[in-house]
Amino acid sequence: MVFKTNTSRGFFDDVNYYFDRASRYTDVPGDLLAQVRMCNAVYRIRFPVVRDDGKIAVVEAYRAEHSHHRLPTKGGVRYALDVSQDEVMALAALMTYKCAVVDVPFGGAKGGVRVDPRHESTSFLRRLTRRYTSELIRKRFIGPDVDVPAPDVGTGAREMGWIYDTYKSQGPDTLNALACVTGKSVSMHGVAGREEATGVGAVIALQHFLSEPEDVKPLGLTPGLSGKRVLVQGLGKVGLHAAREVIKQGGSVVGVSVSNGALYDPDGLEVDAVVEHRRESGSLVGFPRARLLPNPDELLEQPCDILIPAALEHQITADNAPRLRAKVIVEGANGPVDPKADAMLREAGSVIVPDIYANAGGVVVSYFEWIKNLSHVSFERMTRRYQQIANDRLLGVLTRLTGKTLPPEDEALLLYAPNEIDFVRTALENTLAISYERIRTRWKEQSLPDLRTSAYVGAIERVGSAYVQDGIFP
Ligand code: GLU
Repeated sequence: MVFKTNTSRGFFDDVNYYFDRASRYTDVPGDLLAQVRMCNAVYRIRFPVVRDDGKIAVVEAYRAEHSHHRLPTKGGVRYALDVSQDEVMALAALMTYKCAVVDVPFGGAKGGVRVDPRHESTSFLRRLTRRYTSELIRKRFIGPDVDVPAPDVGTGAREMGWIYDTYKSQGPDTLNALACVTGKSVSMHGVAGREEATGVGAVIALQHFLSEPEDVKPLGLTPGLSGKRVLVQGLGKVGLHAAREVIKQGGSVVGVSVSNGALYDPDGLEVDAVVEHRRESGSLVGFPRARLLPNPDELLEQPCDILIPAALEHQITADNAPRLRAKVIVEGANGPVDPKADAMLREAGSVIVPDIYANAGGVVVSYFEWIKNLSHVSFERMTRRYQQIANDRLLGVLTRLTGKTLPPEDEALLLYAPNEIDFVRTALENTLAISYERIRTRWKEQSLPDLRTSAYVGAIERVGSAYVQDGIFP
């Protein structure tokens, strides 16, 4: 049994359903809405890649650029067998709205390659990634000012490194080549904190929702994450970091699932021990104390307060929505709840923290990486020492005026020199705090049906007004 994949109804249709529902609450004119809604460009290619045994594999790949209202367009590249044109278009549209929600000045894009990376050799994947990048360069579907890929399902810092290296050697610009892709490893000019940004961001989003007593009380919950029982679907790039962050912030991860099984323990799981066990034994079987669920879909139905679907789209549908016990659902993945399930869950009184806000942490930190790469300087380089010196002076003045010295731990606190991760983390937190405030205020003031509608309304107005400001629409 694997995670449920795409259903018969199109994913792009689902995104447009949410878009249409929200557009009724905006005063954006219909012709402008039509432009915002559609996918501007899709590049579909098939190319040969030599297998390790000398045979040729014909690979199908895509890059969709949903909206050029801001450039570059931005979004991950997915390596999976069920990649399709519909899927990349939907995911690219989500990127447009996501960037607008968190005020990141990019249009939305998404790429996909039809390949199962788990069953391919590193050398094959390297050749494939280089060839895919060359194809994008040929058609100008990549570039620091054009379209900037990032990791998504099935790709990571390794692939981003190959993309950068290919662009650097073949692309038109060398000075800014570093900014042609984000999600690179820190040693390859990435930025500290990018890897965990999406998962951590999802938990920050959850904490914002849980911080309002007025919003959590009707759900029978107390404010704050402390002591809450959380299920995490998927232990990949998003789920693993989300699960770790839940524990760090005082919550309890009572269940996790991977593609071929799930674990449930009402006393809380040690997530890193689960990962270690799976790495050593190859499965979840035999993990101490926890109940093993051979079918990962069963995880969603276990007792909990909060569910973080952090795997793929369309995991929560009309089929399983009535059996969910979570009062709060935080969409760590893109599109995990389909429109029918969305309506059913709202009807049942649950709250969904929507993907275009809840998983935006990744692209927020990608934006920081892009800025770092274009400016060729890391965030702490110009200020770190100066801040330390300024605080040291302040400490000297305080000591002189009061005749007292601070306890060593307070002195250490004042003389702490911030690192890149400190700047990235605080800027991410600040971005998500401002966005949540905006979404919640609109939700309450306009009596919108839910947080998703509010997030879409804000995004539609923002993208629409960019077209107007650019003089394309009067
Ligand atoms: N693939 C991620 C997403 O869906 C990250 C995109 C990016 O960083 O550009 O948000």
